[in-house]
Amino acid sequence: MCIEKQTIPPSQRMEDLISILDVLKALSSRHDAHEISFAFVEQVARILSVDRCSLVRVRDGQDEGHVLVSHENENFRDYVIELEKYPELITASQTGNVLIIDDETGHPLAQEVRGMLQQAGMASLFVFPLLRQNTGADTLMLRVARRHGTFTPRERSFLQTITEITAAMIGQAYLLESLQAANRHLEQLAITDGLTGVYNRRYFQERFEHEFARALRYHLPFSCVLFDIDDFKEINDTYGHLVGDEILKEVVELMIVCTRHVDILARYGGEEFVILLPQTNVQGALIEAERMREHMETHVFSKLPEDKKITISVGVAGLDPEIMNVSNDLLHAADLALYEAKSNGKNRVVVNENLKKE
Ligand code: GH3
Ligand code: MG
Ligand code: MG
Repeated sequence: MCIEKQTIPPSQRMEDLISILDVLKALSSRHDAHEISFAFVEQVARILSVDRCSLVRVRDGQDEGHVLVSHENENFRDYVIELEKYPELITASQTGNVLIIDDETGHPLAQEVRGMLQQAGMASLFVFPLLRQNTGADTLMLRVARRHGTFTPRERSFLQTITEITAAMIGQAYLLESLQAANRHLEQLAITDGLTGVYNRRYFQERFEHEFARALRYHLPFSCVLFDIDDFKEINDTYGHLVGDEILKEVVELMIVCTRHVDILARYGGEEFVILLPQTNVQGALIEAERMREHMETHVFSKLPEDKKITISVGVAGLDPEIMNVSNDLLHAADLALYEAKSNGKNRVVVNENLKKE
């Protein structure tokens, strides 16, 4: 629908221009997508004195829409609506055209929408598809409703103009946010082990060096715990590799329960995991490791018979600044302790410091 601009007298057009500048000013001082969108609906609602003004996102083929902002409340965000109750949004997103429904506009949808509008206490409605995003999958729409009266040609023209002018700003803000979210997701993937969701070895190495250097510089206690699942090959051979994968995930869940928020848990490789314990001396690390070992041997695994237990062997080492210069020295100490735990019969925790005394 093309809205006639020529019918509006020059003095009113000047007033409208000032209103448009007001809106642009309000938008330009905001940064994130939500703030920009809220400023937009708030300004539009104020200038036109309407009763409802919101931005709604509709995705092709979906039954639900998302009200991203509504002028009544800035804290209101991403409210899910059933599109069945909003046929005007479906039509406007499909056609890409402005849709106006009131007593004077004989739109074919009027009959269907009027009953719903009345229920919501509204007399007239203006829907404007601002933007098609994500290669056409999403439509962002401005939806404006009034309890009494219709939208005059001047108001329609104003709404269309302001929406056209600000669409790119709003669209870019949402696009930037979705790119930032995708970026964060990629960064997370790059440091995460695909199977278990804990940190991968590359990230572990990076953090290990950082934490080791920090502990050395500030004379802080620091420990490293290395553990390996006992006879895991046999588990794979007996129950299959897929069950083996599920068990690895469950082992990690148990580990997470036993570790503190500050501990850094990573998959070192295969069925071997490592935990860095900043600001923790070897006694503290031993307590945590022993708790894990006990937790593991008593746990009933969902994919295994009740009497089939999984155990771990654990090597623990604490930072000794006298003899350790680089992170690898601490890891090597934990590895020697783990080797000892395996040699001494598995399902046990060995502390590297105790090896020296033997
Ligand atoms: P030990 O008690 O001496 O540690 O014996 P083990 O059988 O656990 O040790 P070994 O090193 O002989 O075998 C490790 C097994 O872990 C073999 C390998 O197939 C399995 N494994 C490593 N990564 C994965 C994985 O991602 N999924 C599954 N299902 N198995 C894995
Ligand atoms: Mg093993
Ligand atoms: Mg191993």
